[in-house]
Amino acid sequence: MKKKERDEYNKTYGLYKFKRPLPSEIESAMGLVGESILFKKLISADYERFYDPIKMPEEGDWLMTHKEYGQTYNEYIQKGCLQVDKDRNIIYIVRLFNSNDDDLIKDEFFQYIIGLLEAFFSGMKIALIDVENNYINDNDNNDNDNENENENENNENKENNENNENNNNENNNNNENNNNENNNNDKNNENNNNENNNDENNENNENKQQFTGKMPINADLILEKLKEDVPENAFCLFGLIDTDLYTETLLPNGKRLIKATYGKRSIQDRVSIFSFARFDPFFNFNVKEKSLSKEQRFKIYLILLKRICSAITREICYMFGMKNCIFLSCCMNGTSGAEFDSKQIELCPICLRKLITNISAKGYDIKNYRVKNPMVVYDRFVKMRDALENFSGLYENEVNWFNARIDFLKTLI
Ligand SMILES: [Zn+2]
Repeated sequence: MKKKERDEYNKTYGLYKFKRPLPSEIESAMGLVGESILFKKLISADYERFYDPIKMPEEGDWLMTHKEYGQTYNEYIQKGCLQVDKDRNIIYIVRLFNSNDDDLIKDEFFQYIIGLLEAFFSGMKIALIDVENNYINDNDNNDNDNENENENENNENKENNENNENNNNENNNNNENNNNENNNNDKNNENNNNENNNDENNENNENKQQFTGKMPINADLILEKLKEDVPENAFCLFGLIDTDLYTETLLPNGKRLIKATYGKRSIQDRVSIFSFARFDPFFNFNVKEKSLSKEQRFKIYLILLKRICSAITREICYMFGMKNCIFLSCCMNGTSGAEFDSKQIELCPICLRKLITNISAKGYDIKNYRVKNPMVVYDRFVKMRDALENFSGLYENEVNWFNARIDFLKTLI
């Protein structure tokens, strides 16, 4: 390869030289061997016409900086799959709000989200719980309450924000994981190891970089509290919060590493906390909500709503043991900040196959690797179309896609 081509290649495909899977690899990843003919059709018929290939990474994209191997259906079944138990089939959404200004976050907002989740995880129950904000008030914010004024560090914030996004989809082991382990460890370590600074300055610098303008709270403390409240019949309990979060780690040198995070999850304990504070387009700017026009506020509302819908579906899929997808364009593709708004809401056939195994658990013959009622796939498509139609035009393209897919599948049934 000539230098010019090599440079271009490096620029385009990044550190890990991501290659799109071949059609044979995609089909193999679906793991449809043994399934009924109808199920195979509903999952995969003409998939190349309906599902876009995964986008080749560009600078700043997730796959530019992360090595992803993908998780085939068989790998999922053998390792990560968490099936819905008939006694534990409710997804609890816990609404944890610190903000007094509830103008943007109304019940209507959650009606949209719950409606989508009921379709996406068709067959499972979704329950919304409001928790008094004692979760939040009990938190110790003292370490971070003194650096909320500086407006000149938006770039650094942006960088951290993207780093967080980049890590949004990593680490789905059954251990506790930050949802968004930061890539800026090195940077923080550098700060921490800089002996010219005293501890206080170090912490202040980190806080400046990560939390400018916002009062963050400790994700670990909230997660611990949520663990105590997981109902017996919960498949999982998902805390959604409008306040920025951080995690804190004690380093071997005795110093504290404070990292901004979107959230944290413990699959083992069936619990997750997720903050959408950084989804706010004005997160990095100290803009007062009241200074915005009605149109601007509505625009933010829609952006937030769409970002939360993408994040919450993906996060709950992680609770099922699903991992990042590299096979086709999919809601489970790893995502960096810049990619987030172009993310699609639906799963590719491979990830859908994984989800169907879970949500049709009672109708799944594990011994023979066979879904007993293949029509759950078709029914879910219809429910997704109906749910997205309720978003008043926000998902117009997606509704059209579901209609086309449904019309096509009708001819095969
Ligand atoms: Zn996928």
